[in-house]
Amino acid sequence: MKNLPYFCRCEVMRGFGHGSKQLSIPTANFPEQVVDNLPSDVSIGIYYGLEARVGTGEVHKMVVSIGWNPYYKNMKKSIETHIMRTFKEDFYGEILNVAIADYLRTEKNFDSLESLISAIQGDIEEAKK
Ligand code: ADP
Ligand code: MG
Repeated sequence: MKNLPYFCRCEVMRGFGHGSKQLSIPTANFPEQVVDNLPSDVSIGIYYGLEARVGTGEVHKMVVSIGWNPYYKNMKKSIETHIMRTFKEDFYGEILNVAIADYLRTEKNFDSLESLISAIQGDIEEAKK
């Protein structure tokens, strides 16, 4: 993928309300236009990278899912960023800067919520390395 690292910057929108937050893996969703503007050679899957949020200036590690969320049977492609730190408050409407560094794995379906969660936790460990 010649477009990596890929940078995008947009406000955080409400997502599909899957309750990722209740699973301790909240994902900040970008609006549709960010998804529509992705270069065509950016494959569906899980990526890691760095993220900086305007306002704090701090840069954090993150994992990003680009795809269809097959476990949840989404009809719409999404870009969802899980930032690897705990925030005291939600930041809907704030500008999120994302630097997508490299590819971790392709998108997969899971037969249980537990296996989905453990795959995401594995992605987070890989991203840390
Ligand atoms: P939604 O379906 O609206 O995306 P989520 O359960 O995925 O809901 O939660 C995402 C929201 O949680 C983000 O938009 C953001 O405001 C907040 N949030 C808090 N901590 C984090 C984090 N570490 N990474 C991503 N989003 C976070
Ligand atoms: Mg989300």
